[in-house]
Amino acid sequence: MGAEFTAKQVRHLFFTREAQRCFYCRRPLSFQLRGSMLAGGWSIHHRKGRRAGDNSYPNGLVLCGTGTTGCHGRVTEDPEWAYDFGLAIRRLAMTPEFSPALMRVRDGAGRWFLLTAGGRAVEVEGPNQ
Ligand SMILES: [Zn+2]
Repeated sequence: MGAEFTAKQVRHLFFTREAQRCFYCRRPLSFQLRGSMLAGGWSIHHRKGRRAGDNSYPNGLVLCGTGTTGCHGRVTEDPEWAYDFGLAIRRLAMTPEFSPALMRVRDGAGRWFLLTAGGRAVEVEGPNQ
């Protein structure tokens, strides 16, 4: 069973946590262009794959592009890089330390964050162990 973020969660992630920018490259995005390949297009990436059934805030990232373009495309196409940066979490890593709320995630400027269950991004020291 997959997990989808609710419309309310998507708005919170997009407008409040990421301030209308891609989490990784901080490119400005347009809310109306969700799912679009146009400039300003974006999508929600599940750090631990959708099939893990986790639709908590720490598992969602607003990324530019789609599964094949932009930062979302890069995460999809280069999983080892994405794991190193916490942008993705191995689906089979099921022990608690691999939960999205405990896995730090790095942006394109080299800053590390913990993503909280309440929907905030808190800058921390990195990287993950
Ligand atoms: Zn981006």
